[in-house]
Amino acid sequence: MIPCPLHWLTGLNCPFCGSQRMVWALLQGEWVEAFHYNPFLFSLLPFIFLFLLLYLPASPLRARLKFLLSDRAMLFYLIVMLLWGIIRNIYGI
Ligand SMILES: [Zn+2]
Repeated sequence: MIPCPLHWLTGLNCPFCGSQRMVWALLQGEWVEAFHYNPFLFSLLPFIFLFLLLYLPASPLRARLKFLLSDRAMLFYLIVMLLWGIIRNIYGI
């Protein structure tokens, strides 16, 4: 596993801390363990798969859901990730 530079430097968890262990647990079928490593990213898995579908060149969903890739949407995702990073460090998640 690649260590997180932010966690290594500051001891704080970034929004993505635990994601490598989460993916590893998912690949082994350990869903509960995966959830505990990064509950926020785990709950976003359906959306992550949706985004992967949107990036397929001939995806029929692309035209209907292109607002999910807009600049405003990207700003929203950035703010949500930052809030998750703050909340998880406050509450020790
Ligand atoms: Zn991290």
